Amino acid sequence: MIDSHAHLYLEEFDEDRETVIRRAREAGVKSIINIGIDLETTSQAIALAREHADFFASAGIHPQSPIDDLEAALAGLRELILAHPEEVVAVGEIGLDYYWDTVPPEAQSGILQDQLDLAVELSLPVIFHCREAIDPLLELLEARDRIPPGVFHCFEGGPAEAERGLALGFHISFAGNVTYKNAQRLQQAAAVVPLNRLLLETDSPYLPPHPHRGKRNEPAYTALTRDFLAELLGIPPLEIDEAATVNTRRLFSLRG
Ligand SMILES: [Zn+2]
Repeated sequence: MIDSHAHLYLEEFDEDRETVIRRAREAGVKSIINIGIDLETTSQAIALAREHADFFASAGIHPQSPIDDLEAALAGLRELILAHPEEVVAVGEIGLDYYWDTVPPEAQSGILQDQLDLAVELSLPVIFHCREAIDPLLELLEARDRIPPGVFHCFEGGPAEAERGLALGFHISFAGNVTYKNAQRLQQAAAVVPLNRLLLETDSPYLPPHPHRGKRNEPAYTALTRDFLAELLGIPPLEIDEAATVNTRRLFSLRG
């Protein structure tokens, strides 16, 4: 199993990070990709990848990360990526987030376009964060000449939006929120995603799957989302696991 999206560098894990990682390994999670949301956290994700076998990092500026000097931030991002080719496997998380309003929509689009260009230039896949902005994000992507391969992390659309993302060649990743009682639309979306486009993730420490809702999430719980999807789709858990692992390895060109 691979947890394709976690933030283990956050202070939520300062007290017991190594224990959390041990529990993940015991639960069968072989690899974890830690996701940067700005330059500082990207460096932290890279540091974790250097310390742990089968850990990887993504480098990106989240749509709600405030940036004073965009040019300097993009140059810094490029530098981090080029300096750590073994660790950095994607540009992300990038995207649009209209739920929070720290960064206005127009500025979000600009920095997203710049990071998509960077991913195309460096031949890296992307990891999308999207909150209350799935239509604008799909429209922006559909209007581009060149799009990198990538994944919609913690997908929050319905089946129609999933189909549009799939038509653009993207993968779709489900986090713990797909297990929630009120997540019917998301569960309908899961039903239209072919097995060869599905990824698993936790988004730790956020969005823990049922029955841990409201507490801290951790990579060991990837298994709970896998089991839920298996039940929902009528596919053995091992098959979900194997498909998601193969997809994640292929999308991010993971070594080992
Ligand atoms: Zn995230």
